[in-house]
Amino acid sequence: MTELQRPQPKPGVMDIAAYVPGKSAAPAGVAKVHKLSSNESPLGPSPKAIEAVRDVAAKLEFYPDGASTRLREAIAEAHGLNPANILCSNGSDEVLGLLALTYLQPGDEAIFTEHGFLVYRIYTQAASAVPVAVKETDETADVDAILAAVTEKTRIVFLANPNNPTGTYIPFDEVRRLHAGLPKHVILVLDAAYAEYVRRNDYESGMELVSSSHNVVMTRTFSKIHGLGGARIGWIYAPAEIIDALNRVRGPFNVNAAAIEAGVAAMKDRAHVEAALAHNDKWLAWLTQELTALGLRVTPSVGNFVLVHFADGERHSAAAADEYLTQRGYILRRVAGYGFPNALRMTIGTEEANRGVVAALVEFLKT
Ligand SMILES: *Cc1c(COP(=O)(O)O)cnc(C)c1O
Repeated sequence: MTELQRPQPKPGVMDIAAYVPGKSAAPAGVAKVHKLSSNESPLGPSPKAIEAVRDVAAKLEFYPDGASTRLREAIAEAHGLNPANILCSNGSDEVLGLLALTYLQPGDEAIFTEHGFLVYRIYTQAASAVPVAVKETDETADVDAILAAVTEKTRIVFLANPNNPTGTYIPFDEVRRLHAGLPKHVILVLDAAYAEYVRRNDYESGMELVSSSHNVVMTRTFSKIHGLGGARIGWIYAPAEIIDALNRVRGPFNVNAAAIEAGVAAMKDRAHVEAALAHNDKWLAWLTQELTALGLRVTPSVGNFVLVHFADGERHSAAAADEYLTQRGYILRRVAGYGFPNALRMTIGTEEANRGVVAALVEFLKT
């Protein structure tokens, strides 16, 4: 055996492209920064969640409830689910990773779509499995392409519905068709991080399909409409056998005490969620219309963000727009890593931020 000079990660780890979060800083001297790069809520968290975290602060010597019981019960009550079929996690990222770690062996394959959430690829590679990215059609998941990619080695299909960073979704009959075409031992992961925002009659987040199948799971997050990205709270709704397996692999206290209480308070504050939804409805439509009127192509979005495409050539490219907006305090998201070298993703912000970005782009396009 060769004697190595230092510890080496297992094969494949150094091939992982580390996740690059959205920027949050503007250059020195910018008066006000509007962070529109991570799909955070312009309304912030519920005041009740803030209060709940303050209360926990005085009792931080105690370990949290490792089973997140109160949080699972609050989620179950709000959605009409059995709390035994819910597992909470340190953001939904964690539970996506747990799925990979629990169900993928070296050489197994996990499928996702070409512009799908980057975390799927990262965790697939971390589990020493093979990431399989399939083509989309019109920046939207293509069920036939996914089914065509299934092999004997496929164990997981990850589908963000709606997807980030495109904001597109597939109707629920398409999700059903996808499920019907998968072998029974393949897990279909429906990542519904943006489900609360969707206003379409043909959309469903997938709870019913989870309830009526053995191989479908749905993941959700408190990071988006609940405005609690910093608290790191996610959850999965899954068949009992899958919950049982994930519970064996997860950290024993994976959700911290402040997160549990913030989540319970947020789940009960329906008025705050409604306000966030109403804000998004109004400004998603407004931004789509205004940006399109500037001659920019906007991918039709049902989420809390828009993917804005820029012109070829340097002058009015996404990179140039990003630089121009950043100088003025508007921080959007570069999405080259998602296969969109000439687009920016913009989170629906406050009225001030939304109007500010459009006004700045009017000026930018005159340069
Ligand atoms: C934001 C997002 C999540 C949520 O991640 P958290 O870890 O819960 O903050 C999950 N999936 C997609 C597609 C997202 O965009």
